[in-house]
Amino acid sequence: MNHYEKLKDYARLIVQTGANVQKNQEVVISVSVINYEFARLIVKEAYEAGAKEVIVIWNDIETSRMRYDYGQMEIFESVPNWIAESRNYYALKKSAFISITGNDPEAFKGVDSEKLRLNAKASHKAFEPYYRKTMSSEVQWCVAAAAELKWAKKIYPESQDEEAIKKLWQAIFSAVRIDEDDAVIKWRKHNDFLREKCKLLNDYHFAKLHYKSELGTDFIIGLHQDHVWEGGAEISKDGIPFVANLPTEEIFTCPNCYEAEGTVVSAMPLSYQGNIINEFTLTFKEGKVVDYSAKTGLEILKILLDSDEGAKRLGEVALVPYNSPISNMGILFYETLFDENAACHLALGECYPTTIAGGDKMTKEELTTSGGNSSQVHVDFMIGTADLSIFGMTDDGKSIQIFEKGNWI
Ligand code: ZN
Ligand code: ZN
Repeated sequence: MNHYEKLKDYARLIVQTGANVQKNQEVVISVSVINYEFARLIVKEAYEAGAKEVIVIWNDIETSRMRYDYGQMEIFESVPNWIAESRNYYALKKSAFISITGNDPEAFKGVDSEKLRLNAKASHKAFEPYYRKTMSSEVQWCVAAAAELKWAKKIYPESQDEEAIKKLWQAIFSAVRIDEDDAVIKWRKHNDFLREKCKLLNDYHFAKLHYKSELGTDFIIGLHQDHVWEGGAEISKDGIPFVANLPTEEIFTCPNCYEAEGTVVSAMPLSYQGNIINEFTLTFKEGKVVDYSAKTGLEILKILLDSDEGAKRLGEVALVPYNSPISNMGILFYETLFDENAACHLALGECYPTTIAGGDKMTKEELTTSGGNSSQVHVDFMIGTADLSIFGMTDDGKSIQIFEKGNWI
């Protein structure tokens, strides 16, 4: 298969397995102008799958950076209605959403952090209907990546430009299982494997998980009393299966946001808002971050934690074996979409109502009183290392080891 054929296969995987575009459905694609050729392939696939209309929201990280550098503070305080509507309108119409990520992980390094803070706050507020519909799987959505030069150079600094891009595309293709065989069929098998692991943990229905690593993680997290482990394809409210992240290797569930004790140590750098946070620790008491440190990006970490009350609590617990295809590639991607699938992780902020039994029918208030976290943010960070042990603790005080040396037992 040549590069173009792989791209076409990847576009088909995103449309059919990822968003699972239905006949007569509208599709909204957000993508960088740099990847216009790949975008056209996705648009074509979507129409061929029967889309009524495909709307493309083009973005460009360089002009976004200029906006931060030259724009006055007040423009970051709110989002104009017409921009908010470009997503909210389609979310309310139950369109399918495809986001193509992949940018310089440090695109906004040195930007006035107050502008970043205001922008994040205003966006979360403006796009609230869209976020709600996606987080609760009311609409199908899919996030996948495309290679971009600065991102590629961050991963392969030694390589020439063209070589770096080529390597990154290759890495993306392997991570999403694009090769000679039919990727859509391979993903069906992969889904079955993830569903099996979910069933195992759902049968145990642990009350708590205890994490320990030599790096310094010693941490106990309570799981939501009605938690459900999810992984692989999810089912939208209208019964359409879709895969929200390509790739995905995780199974994940909802913690009780009032029960977390101890310290977690980051296992990988985290790119947040175009800045890198590295070598950080978070210490929890009664579910809330009470202390934190970072060797790099402390100020950005502070912005994240100060987003709102829920940003200091956890909304997701995810298990990924250290011996997973992406982890085995030995590449640090500086992109959560990939790095979260190479390591066990947690997420600060909003929980997925789909990881609580009956959660999709609960009001916001019912969710939070039951222990589900509510926040404007949802940010995954990696804690899985080669020496991580995880013990599941049952209601009656039994402890069963489920991870040893970073992998499933
Ligand atoms: Zn996750
Ligand atoms: Zn997450």
